[in-house]
Amino acid sequence: MKKALITGIRGQDGAYLAKLLLDLGYQVYGADRRSSDSSYWRLEYLKIKDKIKLVYMDLLEYSNIIDVIKEIKPDEVYNLAAQSFVQVSFNQPLLTSEVNALGVLRLLEALKLYKPDTKFYQASTSEMFGIAKEVPQNENTPFNPVSPYAVSKVFAHYITVNYRLAYNMFNCCGILFNHESPLRGLEFVTKKIVNTAVKIKYNLAEKLLIGNIYAKRDWGYAPEYVYGMYLMLNHDKPDDYVLATNETHTVKEFIDKTFEYLGMPLKWEEDNDKIRAYSQGKLLVESSLEFYRPSEVPILKGDYTKAKKILNWEPTTKFDKLIEIMINEEFNIIKLINV
Ligand code: NDP
Ligand code: GDP
Repeated sequence: MKKALITGIRGQDGAYLAKLLLDLGYQVYGADRRSSDSSYWRLEYLKIKDKIKLVYMDLLEYSNIIDVIKEIKPDEVYNLAAQSFVQVSFNQPLLTSEVNALGVLRLLEALKLYKPDTKFYQASTSEMFGIAKEVPQNENTPFNPVSPYAVSKVFAHYITVNYRLAYNMFNCCGILFNHESPLRGLEFVTKKIVNTAVKIKYNLAEKLLIGNIYAKRDWGYAPEYVYGMYLMLNHDKPDDYVLATNETHTVKEFIDKTFEYLGMPLKWEEDNDKIRAYSQGKLLVESSLEFYRPSEVPILKGDYTKAKKILNWEPTTKFDKLIEIMINEEFNIIKLINV
């Protein structure tokens, strides 16, 4: 039985990847950092909590990582742990770098010294393209990061590639474009929009406060992206791949579709830097400076040709379907976790 260690097991991707690997017959170890929040709601939602062996591991603690690697001797490590929210990285750039950049180096050093034949997946991100040099972006597009989050991920990406080159380790970086699902964190824009719109529909919230509605993202469906991670580590050669849908949409389009789906079509008004949207005369969406970023990634659109050709990976859930899935599950999730 293959042994996989997943860091970030409590996150969106950790939960979906654990489910996939369990279904494929793996023994799954989940690296869990000590936290006062005892909720495993994503693992419970997928009904896999009892099938995962949880081990305490924090990417900030080198000796802890060494102990876990020596004990489990994993065949595959999927490093999904991160301070993953761009906006917070502007307030906590040092913590973000400690976890997202040096945390990866700690893991790689531990593997190099104690289990160098382990296959290693690093969660790279389309945010590394930043103010992108071209559209769409592929594996050869230069990085131009514009947030502490993205800068930390560029370090992690290059150090993972370097350890592959220097020490012949089986390391892969998945340059994943935004991927969403009912299990997405509430701070991310898609989930925030869906959650608030559903609450407005049921009189549990009054309006949605939002930042830059003109940013464009390439949004895919998370369960399909974790399958791509597995394919990378199970190909005969380690390499780096873009996973994306090759479609791009504005935040505004996401809001429009969501509210329309829920029977609250919006009419937009813009004056003096304030943006508002109404449905049947009622104010439901309003811009708020709090959610704008000091520097912004204007457009992401990924070219996944390489993943399609070499891994036979292709996304099937696109924009409209993704929104439909998220809305349809949201009421159940609100009941489950009470947010
Ligand atoms: P989440 O934010 O949902 O999950 C991140 C996980 O990392 C959480 O479980 C968190 O633990 C854990 N973590 C944070 N700090 C530490 C630490 N110091 N030690 C150990 N664990 C820690 O992210 P996603 O599942 O959405 O994303 C997975 C990975 O993919 C991340 O690295 C992200 O940056 C990257 N990525 C995500 C994209 C997306 O669209 N989702 C796009 C491209 C890349 P806790 O639960 O205790 O807070
Ligand atoms: P990111 O692409 O990893 O930063 O994912 P997010 O979901 O956090 O943000 C996607 C885009 O939505 C970014 O361009 C944000 O500036 C924009 N955005 C606009 N309003 C909001 C908001 O209220 N919350 C978040 N998280 N993003 C917002």
